[in-house]
Amino acid sequence: MSGRQTLSYLQKRFAAAGVKPQTRFGQNFLIDLNLVALIAKTAQLSARDVVLEVGTGTGSLTTIMAAQAGHVVTIEIDRLLAPIAQQEFAQLANVTLLNQDALRNKNHIDEIVLEAVRARMAEIPGARFKLVANLPYNVATPIISNLLGCDPWPNRIVATIQKELAERIVALPRSKDYGALSIWIQCQAQAEIVRVMPASVFWPRPNVESAIIDIRPSRVLRDRIGDTEFFHNLMRGIFIHRRKFLRSALVAATKDRLSKSDVDDLLAQLELEENCRAEQLRVDDLIDLAEHVRIRINKIAPS
Ligand code: SAM
Repeated sequence: MSGRQTLSYLQKRFAAAGVKPQTRFGQNFLIDLNLVALIAKTAQLSARDVVLEVGTGTGSLTTIMAAQAGHVVTIEIDRLLAPIAQQEFAQLANVTLLNQDALRNKNHIDEIVLEAVRARMAEIPGARFKLVANLPYNVATPIISNLLGCDPWPNRIVATIQKELAERIVALPRSKDYGALSIWIQCQAQAEIVRVMPASVFWPRPNVESAIIDIRPSRVLRDRIGDTEFFHNLMRGIFIHRRKFLRSALVAATKDRLSKSDVDDLLAQLELEENCRAEQLRVDDLIDLAEHVRIRINKIAPS
């Protein structure tokens, strides 16, 4: 059984299988098929691409992507939905469905998932890795954030996410949404909101608006950072106290590694005012700051 996954098609499919959409899994299916096509089109898929899709659902986006990409590795946590999706792919040789949680924990993508992607990439000369998905709201942040620290590193991320999250990803300094997540993404990628979508394009309707985000990672941007893990952790540490002055936030984030006078020295060296706040600094300035912090910590306690 395979067809255009309109609202009535999905409702019939679910009724026949005796299942209902599960809120706990973030099951809001995209029923505007023009938007499903727009997600795939934005990702600019080609035969070189191995796509990871988190949240197969009933395979509406998967099927479209399989016609354009080299291979689609699609992950579905729900054991009742996975067999329904598998029937949709019966004729497709380039789809691998894994019925499991895409995350090992909130800080890691599951290794089985990454291994499946690596195996498919090994089969395609010059393979590129893309995440393209209508992500479940509750895991969208850890999926995107962890993927940008992963091997393989994604060439592109195109995803439907909660609008507020999309706004945090593209936020600029001095705005209320600018924080550790904006910086983690913008330090290594260009990001833009492609489309804001009302709740009515999903079944069942979520309580929030959504947006399609297009994230284009760049090695040139990423290579500016000496140690990405250190940078990520330091930004999280500093932005926990986003309203604090930079000096206090930095003292707290480097506790037991730098003294207050080390921090004062550093700020003076970088000509940063004591009373400036991290949220006022541009991504480039924060990369520079983190690099100085890292070098100073290593001088005090060489690893
Ligand atoms: N791709 C379909 C579409 O576009 O309509 C479904 C998208 S729906 C927003 C998200 C899907 O992700 C659901 O089918 C849900 O069961 C699945 N899901 C939720 N959490 C997951 C997780 N941690 N790992 C894998 N799949 C998950």
